[in-house]
Amino acid sequence: MSRVYNFSAGPATLPEPVLQQAAEEMLDWRGTGTSVMEMSHRGKAFVSIAEQAEVDLRELLKVPDNYRVLFLQGGATAQFSAVPLNLLGSAGSADYVNTGSWSKKAIAEARKYASVNVVADGGSGDPMAIPPQSEWQRDPDAAYLHYCANETITGVEFPEIPESGDVPLVSDMSSTFLSRPLDVSRFGVIYAGAQKNFGPAGLTVVIVRDDLLDRASAQVPAIWDYQRQAGADSMLNTPATYSWYIAGLVFQWLKREGGLEAMAERNKRKADKLYAAIDGSSFYRNPVDPLARSWMNVPFVLADDQLDGTFLSEAAEAGLHTLKGHRSVGGMRASIYNAMPESGVDALIDFMADFERRHG
Ligand code: PLP
Repeated sequence: MSRVYNFSAGPATLPEPVLQQAAEEMLDWRGTGTSVMEMSHRGKAFVSIAEQAEVDLRELLKVPDNYRVLFLQGGATAQFSAVPLNLLGSAGSADYVNTGSWSKKAIAEARKYASVNVVADGGSGDPMAIPPQSEWQRDPDAAYLHYCANETITGVEFPEIPESGDVPLVSDMSSTFLSRPLDVSRFGVIYAGAQKNFGPAGLTVVIVRDDLLDRASAQVPAIWDYQRQAGADSMLNTPATYSWYIAGLVFQWLKREGGLEAMAERNKRKADKLYAAIDGSSFYRNPVDPLARSWMNVPFVLADDQLDGTFLSEAAEAGLHTLKGHRSVGGMRASIYNAMPESGVDALIDFMADFERRHG
């Protein structure tokens, strides 16, 4: 059976060489006679896999030495609670930018622990845009500033890292992590679930500056306590071992592919050509301000939504899968993460042009 082009927003497509390597190593990881899935997380073999993954991730992102990299469970959703529980300290409030559904979820969760100041409301309207930072209403007493770098559902992405001033900047990078180089030193905390751009569900990477490790609330559950997890090398309890291993294979694949500079070049080219195809047609439309368009998730609507079902079924027949937009917004969405080859984007563009010719 041949593989399809999978445009799912997550869990998403993984690089084929990674899946092949995992299949080859499935029954016997390098002469150990066991699958990685069957290894003790405290054994020498798995510890070497875990350490290598961290070394490779640090190299890819040029993570400075004063940051800890944690490999946790619970998804980005767990971090919506872990962030305030770890960072509020004696402050009672935090600043949040709202650019869409995932920002709202982070805000709702943080409100359980903090007085949340929403500095700006964006990501709605037509076109959807990010309010300029000069208009943000910051709280001088906020413990940190949180934003979602890429709203996966609506495809609204920050083109640049915002300024947080004196307080730590915190970012949910779930759907943009490793899509381009990143200046980690600008952040207090970065978190991302693996299932979009670097592995299977079940693993969440958290990168935290080490001076922020001492301000957790006494109520923080041990598994979400950054300091305790850092002290235990993310093995306070059993980690998501297999997801961690696959993420490590993805990091090695990224290095072989030329690292994040090469990824950025490829991702920009893929996104640019898809947006150009949408903008060049009166049949398709993307509702996002060009300055805030995501490189990873490209939503689009058809001029006649009665054709949505036909579009999806014909696309699936053509080997282009999972293009249905999120249930909250409708229309279509093509997620074109690192592992989506350029040939997949080309095939989608060709299909869209052909569909328009036949139905437009
Ligand atoms: N944040 C963003 C930007 C997401 O896209 C998602 C998942 O789609 C989440 C958070 C929630 O992630 P998880 O399901 O890993 O908790």
